[in-house]
Amino acid sequence: MATPETVAPTTNGTNGTHPEFVPADSGASALKVGENVTLYDGRTAPIRLRILIVGCGLGGLAAAFALQKAGHECTILEQAPAIGEVGAGIQVTPNVSRILLSWGLGPQLERTAVIPQAIVFRRWQTGERVGYTRWGDLMLQDHGAPYCHIHRADFHRMLDDLASGAGVQIRLGAAVTAIDADAPAVTLRSGETLACDLLIGADGVKSMIRQVIVGAPDAPVATGDAAYRATIPTSAMLSEEDLRGFVEEPEMTAWMGPGRHIMGYCIRGKKEYNLVLLHPDDGSVESWTAEGSADKMRADFEGWEPRIQKLLGLVPSTLKWKLMDRGPLETWIHPSGRVVLLGDSCHPMLPYRAQGAAMAVEDAAVLGSLLSHISSPTQIPFFLRAYEQLRHARCTDTQAQARLNQKIFHLPDGAAQRERDEDMRQAMEAEFSGQAGEAEGNQNQWADKKKSRLQFGYDAEGVAEGWWREEGQGELESEEREGTV
Ligand SMILES: Cc1cc2nc3c(=O)[nH]c(=O)nc-3n(C[C@H](O)[C@H](O)[C@H](O)COP(=O)(O)OP(=O)(O)OC[C@H]3O[C@@H](n4cnc5c(N)ncnc54)[C@H](O)[C@@H]3O)c2cc1C
Repeated sequence: MATPETVAPTTNGTNGTHPEFVPADSGASALKVGENVTLYDGRTAPIRLRILIVGCGLGGLAAAFALQKAGHECTILEQAPAIGEVGAGIQVTPNVSRILLSWGLGPQLERTAVIPQAIVFRRWQTGERVGYTRWGDLMLQDHGAPYCHIHRADFHRMLDDLASGAGVQIRLGAAVTAIDADAPAVTLRSGETLACDLLIGADGVKSMIRQVIVGAPDAPVATGDAAYRATIPTSAMLSEEDLRGFVEEPEMTAWMGPGRHIMGYCIRGKKEYNLVLLHPDDGSVESWTAEGSADKMRADFEGWEPRIQKLLGLVPSTLKWKLMDRGPLETWIHPSGRVVLLGDSCHPMLPYRAQGAAMAVEDAAVLGSLLSHISSPTQIPFFLRAYEQLRHARCTDTQAQARLNQKIFHLPDGAAQRERDEDMRQAMEAEFSGQAGEAEGNQNQWADKKKSRLQFGYDAEGVAEGWWREEGQGELESEEREGTV
């Protein structure tokens, strides 16, 4: 488990623990799993690299676990004095649950996840259903893994336990203030310097390591949107005739309105209902822990359908989060070939396709698989290039899908909105009549079968293994013969 050392200021400027962090469900506990699970068919690298990972978010934890199991010695450096997650849900799509299952987390998912039966799109004012795509068992059938809704604290706990169980060292209160990309080495706020063979920047959307790679100030860009997040105990919903269905038949519901949308789904064995309310940013701060005003939130969604008013009436408090974005980087690798980015530090995205953490976990699985083949530190740049080659286009494409949903979901009422609703309605009716086709280009991106196959059917580790068999091994041998590695 993580050990706190010198206490550094947290992102919200306080010292000590995060009052906003909520405890994980005991069902998420995965203490022995990381030690016992076998990855990469039991293969580990013949050399042991010292790897420093900056950031103990979902991406940093996943990378540390995957690389430790590949035979390396991983240490995570996290600036915050405590780690955990706020009270909010997260969607774990099949491309990620496939990885989590292969990492031995099946029982934990079974105990803590809710499987939504469908995604449903509704009009903001009336609640009229305009779009519907069946999920449930179909996800398993079509993509080989389930679509899960879980609590962030449970997800974080699973990965923390996995990493700790595998032998990863996690140092809290360890803010990295400078890096020497050539050594490579980092300096902590305490003045301590740590050297390594490979440095991974999993330091999130405000990444300082990204700036070192870009070589110039490189601030994230405001998207114009902010999110309120809240959870409601479903016991309060079950006693309301018109809210009960949201719990009894769990679905992912998206209400779309001018400049705003709301996502709602059950988590934690249907004991909690998670709400994310996207709205024009009017001065929120970039922090998981910024308290929002529940009354302001209710005022912001005045006029939305009666069930929304009831749901928002049940929200005791809310957190507010400014949504930041960044364009694709030309490269995620420092010219030294010893520093690389992962997760939100290199490809942050709007949460409108629920793929931010998904891409970070995929990055981790690919990096772990690739570096299980490394046999000399001189090969690090070769494998980092392969990582970037396998990941860059996929993440850039996923960022674009999320941005596209910002346009689709937030259309003002009028001709384009009516066209969108009609397009979604056609896919829904085809689905209900058992005639669902490919729905290519449908504005309900989840109805588009090709997009779903590409996004959810993706097997990150399989892709990395295939690359090694079909290209990588040969390329490495030839580069070594030519003396370029
Ligand atoms: C409202 C909302 C809903 C979302 N929903 C989904 C969803 O349903 N599905 C999904 O897949 N994704 C979702 N996402 C996206 C997802 O949360 C992020 O993509 C993911 O958490 C990024 O993980 P990360 O590890 O890359 O970065 P982070 O979680 O940001 O972690 C970075 C860590 O680095 C630490 N750090 C930063 N600088 C330093 C330093 N100098 N020294 C030491 N430590 C440092 C930070 O303290 C932090 O702990 C959502 C995001 C939002 C905002």
